[in-house]
Amino acid sequence: MKVDLHNHSYFSDGVLSPSQLVGLANEAGCDLFSLTDHDTTGGVVEAQIEADRLGVKLLNGVEISAFWRNMTIHIVGLGVDINNDLLQTGLEYNQKLRKERAEKIALGLWRSGIKDALEKTQSLSKTEVLTRTHFAQMLIREGYCKDMKSVFRRYLTGKKPGGVRVEWKNIDEVINWIHSAGGKAIIAHPFRYQMTHTKIQNMLFDFKDVLGDGLEVVTATSTDEEVKLSNQWSDKYNLLSSSGSDFHGWPN
Ligand code: AMP
Ligand code: MN
Ligand code: MN
Ligand code: MN
Repeated sequence: MKVDLHNHSYFSDGVLSPSQLVGLANEAGCDLFSLTDHDTTGGVVEAQIEADRLGVKLLNGVEISAFWRNMTIHIVGLGVDINNDLLQTGLEYNQKLRKERAEKIALGLWRSGIKDALEKTQSLSKTEVLTRTHFAQMLIREGYCKDMKSVFRRYLTGKKPGGVRVEWKNIDEVINWIHSAGGKAIIAHPFRYQMTHTKIQNMLFDFKDVLGDGLEVVTATSTDEEVKLSNQWSDKYNLLSSSGSDFHGWPN
């Protein structure tokens, strides 16, 4: 069975429309697919219409930013009822944090001499729920940096001009939003948080302790070693295993 349960459309920081994504999944012979935009389910209705048309099995999804020990991690919610009030209230809260952060990023960039960052970034984004990727694309387009890696390092992290701390809700609360909507809560891309293996396992222990459901065992950038470790850990901490590419449609 071909499964891809982590994908982005232009409702967050992906390049393609939800229908284009479902079209690609269909061409690739994907049996089960999920659209998991950052902090929004805005693209799910369109994805479902295309999935019905093509006969693709679609699981409603979302990728929610959360805090574990004051560090940002991403929790993928799968199989959620997108009309659930608690889930949507939570997502609206995160969207508000994103709007406030976008203004602060723009202010930071302005202080370092980059004018109209918010307007420029908004004008090349199809969504109002801006991610740092949107700012990154603007900065690359304006010639401040040559690629994603350097733009995050030089402008969008830590104490850099557009580095802004966001106070996301803690994992237990985010898991509760997902569970209220009938979904499963999955820790996304465990190796992308700059944590030691011990720390990742502490996170998995805590996640399970607050009733989290699963771990993304395979993502597009996984090494064989990472897949092996994730598999061991999903067994050890009694978590479900998920698989998702984290496809955005831009070149890596
Ligand atoms: P945000 O949730 O708005 O903070 O943006 C996070 C998104 O930015 C992630 O989902 C990635 O798509 C992207 N991202 C984060 N860090 C990097 C990085 N160092 N290089 C490239 N993309 C990154
Ligand atoms: Mn992203
Ligand atoms: Mn993520
Ligand atoms: Mn993602």
